[in-house]
Parts: sequence; structure tokens; C-alpha cells
Amino acid sequence: MKTKKNTQTLAPSFSYKSSASNFTGSWRFIKPLYQNKMPPCNMGCPNTNDIQGFIEAVNNNDLKKAFSVLTRTTPFPAICGRVCYHPCESHCNRIQYDDAVNICALERVVGDYALEHGLALTKTGAKTQKKIAIVGSGPAGLNCAYHLRSLGHEVSIFESRSKAGGMLRHGIPEFRLPKKILDAEIKRLLDLGIEIKFNFKINKKELENLSKNYHAVFAAIGAYKPKEVALNGSDLKGVSSGLNFLLSHAYEANSFDIKGKQVAVVGGGNTAIDTARTALRLGGMPTIYYRRTQNEMPAHPDEVREAMEEGIPCQFLANPVECRGSNGKLTSVFFQKMQLGEKDSSGRQKAVAIEGQNFEVKVDFLFTAFGEDAEMEDLAQPLENKWGRFIRKEHFKSNMNNVFLGGDAVQDTQGTVVHALGEGQKAANIIDNFIQGKPLPEYSAGASAVTYKDLNTAYFKKAARSKTPERGHAERKKDFLPVTDALKKEAYEHEAHRCFSCGVCNYCRNCELFCPDKSIKFKSDGMKSLSIDYDHCKGCGICVYECPRCAMDMAKE
Ligand SMILES: Cc1cc2nc3c(=O)[nH]c(=O)nc-3n(C[C@H](O)[C@H](O)[C@H](O)COP(=O)(O)OP(=O)(O)OC[C@H]3O[C@@H](n4cnc5c(N)ncnc54)[C@H](O)[C@@H]3O)c2cc1C
Repeated sequence: MKTKKNTQTLAPSFSYKSSASNFTGSWRFIKPLYQNKMPPCNMGCPNTNDIQGFIEAVNNNDLKKAFSVLTRTTPFPAICGRVCYHPCESHCNRIQYDDAVNICALERVVGDYALEHGLALTKTGAKTQKKIAIVGSGPAGLNCAYHLRSLGHEVSIFESRSKAGGMLRHGIPEFRLPKKILDAEIKRLLDLGIEIKFNFKINKKELENLSKNYHAVFAAIGAYKPKEVALNGSDLKGVSSGLNFLLSHAYEANSFDIKGKQVAVVGGGNTAIDTARTALRLGGMPTIYYRRTQNEMPAHPDEVREAMEEGIPCQFLANPVECRGSNGKLTSVFFQKMQLGEKDSSGRQKAVAIEGQNFEVKVDFLFTAFGEDAEMEDLAQPLENKWGRFIRKEHFKSNMNNVFLGGDAVQDTQGTVVHALGEGQKAANIIDNFIQGKPLPEYSAGASAVTYKDLNTAYFKKAARSKTPERGHAERKKDFLPVTDALKKEAYEHEAHRCFSCGVCNYCRNCELFCPDKSIKFKSDGMKSLSIDYDHCKGCGICVYECPRCAMDMAKE
């Protein structure tokens, strides 16, 4: 039996009016707060792109804003939307729910929109009268130039070749990154007033001149020198590096007539895959030989899959030991059969030769892709180096006072476009502080990001990832037209909608809906905002609990 409440003894100290006139907020001892946190995708981007921010803009159907969010850090969304290996996606919390958001494809949508609509990069800051020289126009050099120019500095790029872009132009083939996209994004960047001197190779003497005549120098010369291999007969005609083959094709030099010829490509990285796919499109008959198995291949899995779909055979656990020929021309390669052994220091299983198990393959061309070193030539004397790469000290410094280093040319870099972009951006911030005599910024691992466990996933629906459209392999392998296509409107809207917006309030208004005290107010007069009426919020914490994306916290009063 329910006991009747004694209203006399429980008599409250407030009047019996509407709750609005009673300041029930005084009952509270902890309070809710809006507290945006680090989304894991943003944290996983080596160039610190605000991924959640640009996807939110796509979600609001504002591609112009999405472009302005992305170009705070990168001038190249259309390039990255095609070739970035998107480490951000492997950090996406959605992986644990159904599948990662297709961030790369969304970036491409924004990049292509900006090019189609002629969107310019934001105007630069006031002129500072400081001059910076950049050596190399790959993604590291170009992004460094972008950020320094945006800060108002005068930037001159020195490029040894006749065109800008580094490996974006010379390595990555047209069918993955069309030159017209590359040219358009580079032009838009140079339109900010960045000078570029082509066919200008910086050697030791020139570097010393740059160091004297500029306030700072950023050297990002990439890694163009194919690693040498001890292979008998490697001087035969028909034996070359995959990178030389790709460079020859990029410059339309056509030094290799491979039509109808058997081509062995040796290696398991991106250069090997791009070499084989380019050879296939030029009418050659390529086979990839790799000394480990598919699991250990360093190439991006999507590219390995695409190559296999195009019908390129891969022979695993095979290592070349000798080239043979007649009249100075390659006719066959001897391979040794391998097996996987113990793990090496990197955790990968070593490839171990199986004695006495060699086999011969008749081939017309052998393209090796065993990795690349920096083509340092006489720069090796002023700049300290080891194992084919420059040694970089703290704060991207070299051993020369005002010369900074970055990109693929230095040790311990990851060898991807987005890592090179990130190096360029960080170097620009360091150089900016250096020339102004300010303390140099530190780059540490940073704050921790919102995890899957932090989310309230009850509010999300399972939804399949919008896959990047690809041309059929039978058709695409015949030409250099793009292999992939952009997501159509419906697909990219769906994809943007899949973003959990981890840690960042996107005004879903769940907090407002669930607040029992009606203490949460939403406003949308131009700018959206949510505010908490602390006079009446009793600190129950329901809003924080029901926030799907962990963008609220409870804090002590
Ligand atoms: C075949 C291939 C495919 C790849 N595919 C991808 C991909 O799909 N996605 C991805 O993320 N990464 C990919 N990469 C890796 C990526 O391209 C590189 O990590 C990135 O381009 C490195 O940028 P960087 O600016 O350090 O150097 P680079 O891009 O190599 O640019 C260096 C520039 O410096 C110039 N230079 C060199 N020496 C001098 C000198 N002495 N004076 C003046 N200029 C000089 C060069 O001509 C060049 O323009 C690929 C690499 C290769 C080889």
C-alpha cells in the first residue's frame, strides 16, 4: 500500500509557481558542458586535415565551405581524393560498427567541385619581406610553399625538372591521377604568387648560395635513385628500374618498346604495381615477382587488387638471382624460390632462399622496384646523410644553420603523399617561427581521440559504405583513362551522413530532446548554437549520456 506523502514535512523552500521561476539549478553539484574533442580521423591524418569538419560541411550541402575547411591544411583535395592512402579511414570509429566512411572519395568530391567552380585559395596574409627558398616541387615542397606564402612570405621554388609535382607527376600514372587535375591544383597554388624556377638543379654550391641569400631554405628533393641490386647481368639491355620506366613514360620519352613483350617486374611496393599496370596498358605482358607473399606486400592492398583484377599474374616467393642474354640483350631471368622464415626487426617474416630450387623465365624486359634513395649527388657533402637519405635533426633542421629538410628525402618518413604534405606544413610552421626568432613548435603525438566506446551508437543506423566507382577491368586495362570515378550526389550525401562526427557537436539536438528540465536551448539565427540554462539545469547528466558523439561532459561545479 502506497503511503501518502506528508507535504507538510517535505515542504520545499520554494514557492509553488512554475518551475521557470524557481532556480532549481542550485540543487546541482555537477554540470553538463559542451566539450568538442578530437575525432580519430583528424588525428589519423598526417597532414592534420579537419576531416570531421569538411564532412560536416558536405553534410550541410555546403561544398564551398568543405573546400575552405580542407584548404586550411592542404591545397590539393582533388589530388588526395584520388591517390591518398587515407590512413584516416583506418582510424574511423565506424569500422567497428559496419565499415569506415569513404573519406578519400568525399575529399575528391570537394576537390573536383572546387576545380569545376573555379574556387580560389584564400588570399595570403600581409607581406613580411622574408624570403624562403624551397628545393623540390613535390607534395612536401609545394605544401610548405603554400603555408609560407599564406603567412605572407615570399617563396621561390627551385625544381630540377621541367614540370612541378615530383612523384605525383613522375611516379603516379595518369590512370590514377590525371595530369589535368594535377596541373589545375598546382596552378591554383602558384596563382597565390609563388615563383617556380624549372630546370634548376640545386647542387652543393647553389645550396650554399640559397642559404646565404634567403632567410631559410626547405629542401624536399624526394627519393629518385633506384636502389642498386647485386644481380648478375643487370647491365644487359632490357634491364632497368621500374621508376626509370615510369619516368620515361611520364615524359613521353618512350625509351622502352614493350609492346607484345614479356616483362618481369620485381618488387612488392607501389612502384612495382604501377610499373606492371603501365606496362600492361602499353601492350606489354607483365608478371610481378615478389620474394614474400601477398600478405607482406608493402603496396596498398587496393592497388594490388586492381592489378590482379586486370589480369596481371603475381608470382610470390620468387627472387631474381641472375639475368642472361644474347648480343647484350636480356633474354631470361633466373629466380630462386623462397620461403618465409623468422620475423625481422620490423615484425615481417624474412624471405629465405630454398637452396637448389631455381627456375628460369624467358623475358624481354626486367624492371626492378626495390625502393629508392635520395638523389643527393654533391649535396651529400654539406648535408649529413645515412643509407641514402638525409639525416634530420630536431625541428626539421639539417646540419646547415637555416636549411630545413623534409619529405621522402629524409630518414624515417613514411613515403606517401599525405605524409609529405604533412612534412611540408609542419616545416612551414617551424620556418615561420625560425625567421621571426620565436620558439620552434614541437610536434608530439597530441591529445587522445574519441574511441568507439565513448559513443552512444544507439542513435546510428547501419548503412553500407558507398564504394568508389571503378571502371570494369576488361575495359580499363586498355587505356590510361581514370580507373576510378567520383561518387555521385546521392552516394556522397549518403556517405557524409554515415560520419559519426565523433567528439564534435553537429546539432543533432538529442541533448535538447532528452533534457527533463527543458534547460537546453537551440538557436539558429544564421549560426547554430546550443546553450544550457544553468539556473534550471539540475545536473542529471541525461544530455551527456544521450549525446551520440561524446561532445558533452559532466564537470564539477
Ligand atoms: C610509382 C610511385 C607511385 C606512388 N603512388 C603513391 C600513391 O598512390 N599514394 C601515395 O600517397 N603515395 C604514393 N607514392 C609516394 C609519393 O609519391 C611520395 O611519397 C611523395 O611524392 C614524396 O613527396 P616529396 O615532396 O618528398 O618528394 P617528390 O614527390 O619525390 O618530389 C621531389 C622533387 O624534388 C625535385 N628535385 C630532386 N632533386 C633536386 C635538386 N637537387 N634540385 C631541385 N629539385 C630537385 C624532383 O624533381 C621532384 O620534383 C608513390 C611513389 C611512387 C614512386
